[in-house]
Amino acid sequence: MPHGHPQVPYGYPQTPYGYPQAAGPVGCQMCGAGPAAPVTVRGHQGMVVIMRSLKRQGMLCRTCALSVFREMQAETLVAGWWGPLSVLITPFVLLANLGALSGIRRLPAPVTPGWRPPLDPGKPVFQRPAGVLALIPLGLLGLLVTLVTGLLLVGLVPGLSGDDAHLKPGSCAVNDGDWTEQDLRSVPCDSVDAQFRVVDPEQEPCAKGDFLAEPRYSTEGIGLCLRPVR
Ligand SMILES: [Zn+2]
Repeated sequence: MPHGHPQVPYGYPQTPYGYPQAAGPVGCQMCGAGPAAPVTVRGHQGMVVIMRSLKRQGMLCRTCALSVFREMQAETLVAGWWGPLSVLITPFVLLANLGALSGIRRLPAPVTPGWRPPLDPGKPVFQRPAGVLALIPLGLLGLLVTLVTGLLLVGLVPGLSGDDAHLKPGSCAVNDGDWTEQDLRSVPCDSVDAQFRVVDPEQEPCAKGDFLAEPRYSTEGIGLCLRPVR
């Protein structure tokens, strides 16, 4: 290679102003290196009442894209949570960025140099103070998701919810709790555990000496009579 030849790779501009028309693939718009691909990274800032959504989009090489991703993700992890709507929006922004990151990682490392060094990718997000701080809201969010999932499961899986704890009139029951905190369950009437026969007060009024089951044990939400088995 002759000395004095310009150190600019063929087909790439020296300045970010404009691209050569027939230069093949377009380089990174931050540094000019190639290959580059369209990249979109989002950010979110909650400011209690107002909020701001950020977006950075462009043709970027792998190194510059990684730098933009880490910067936006770290900033969103700290600034994203501060508002009632922001708390809901930020997880989606973070997840969308993780999707963008998997695209960035599929991009090969730059092979053709640009007109300037690429942006500094810096440290991974969770090795930055912002990432460490964000473990608090992320932890709380994880806890919330776990709780909601747990509650949904309890509601969906029969037997966990207590929905099957309804007592049928004519059947027998035992109280595993006491009368201030009932814990009634159905048992066969010929079982030695059977303490009460369940009576529907709409068919037969409660007798003297009957106990009253809490309404939650009835399919109709009424207080069933519990007649001691003698
Ligand atoms: Zn670049």
